[in-house]
Amino acid sequence: MPGKLAAGNWKMNGTTAALAEARALAEACPDPAVSILICPPATLLSRLSDILAAGPVATGGQDCHGAASGAHTGDISAAMLADAGAGHVILGHSERRADHGETNADVRAKAEAAIAAGLAAIVCVGETAAERDAGDTLAVIEAQLAGSLPDAITPATVIVAYEPVWAIGTGRVPTLDQIDEVHAMIRANLSARYGAETGDEITLLYGGSVKGTNAAEIFAVAHVNGALVGGASLKSTDFLPIIQALEAS
Ligand code: PEP
Repeated sequence: MPGKLAAGNWKMNGTTAALAEARALAEACPDPAVSILICPPATLLSRLSDILAAGPVATGGQDCHGAASGAHTGDISAAMLADAGAGHVILGHSERRADHGETNADVRAKAEAAIAAGLAAIVCVGETAAERDAGDTLAVIEAQLAGSLPDAITPATVIVAYEPVWAIGTGRVPTLDQIDEVHAMIRANLSARYGAETGDEITLLYGGSVKGTNAAEIFAVAHVNGALVGGASLKSTDFLPIIQALEAS
């Protein structure tokens, strides 16, 4: 069985005061039945990792560079994230793809760098509204998987997050049938490419407007092993019901 993961993506939100939210979350679930991850802004990563070190909540980065080091002003390497306490890194989020023009090849290079640095890469895929309306959803995601995932992965080094772009931060959520269709395709795709032993064990997350009120029904969909959560991960009182729904699934 793939591991279950509730991952919070704080995006460009949070200064020192936000550390208390993560502390509150760790105190609220001292012995969780699922893995919990918070990916804060890079400026908080080291401090948050120190605060959460002894507890059940892990920390991760939101992006890394594809190179190990060098003249890349403003960028952060995978090894730097690991040095700051991260165990995971989100890669290819649609906001990175849209805001920074990241291509599938860029995401693949980043995933390879992350794995080389000992991080687990959370590789995001997902269609825009226009692509869904055109009937291209599965083809778009297949192309993203083919181009973004390294050839050598294991369930310990890669997690795949399906995040329809039109559902991120909008309050719009796909139907359960739509989530089911995409997650089944991703599972079959991974098993065909990497073999069932790997493909069947990779954790698949759904992301896009997950909240305490819709989490249980989403986690009941086959091949949904957790969630990548943006807005509802910023407050422990919003994130906790999602974690509890995953535990109960
Ligand atoms: C995200 O940014 O990955 C995300 C899913 O955001 P939200 O939960 O706010 O839709």
